[in-house]
Amino acid sequence: MSYFINCPRCNKIALNPLQQESQCEECTTAYTVAAQCPTCEAELERIIGCGTTTFFCNDCKAMVSKREAVYRLSSH
Ligand SMILES: [Zn+2]
Ligand SMILES: [Zn+2]
Repeated sequence: MSYFINCPRCNKIALNPLQQESQCEECTTAYTVAAQCPTCEAELERIIGCGTTTFFCNDCKAMVSKREAVYRLSSH
């Protein structure tokens, strides 16, 4: 089951932030997605597990769920 966030270009919930290189399924804009810790703003490490990706903050030494992570998008 995928998790999608809002695409800033077309405003549709069609962007998968769990992939570092992600493409909007609506307008096909490609983004580099950086995930930040909501507590300390450090960039989160992606932990690719069995069928799911989770985030880990090396500063807080804590797991961060995909719904809590703060996503920074840069289009290219
Ligand atoms: Zn889009
Ligand atoms: Zn943190």
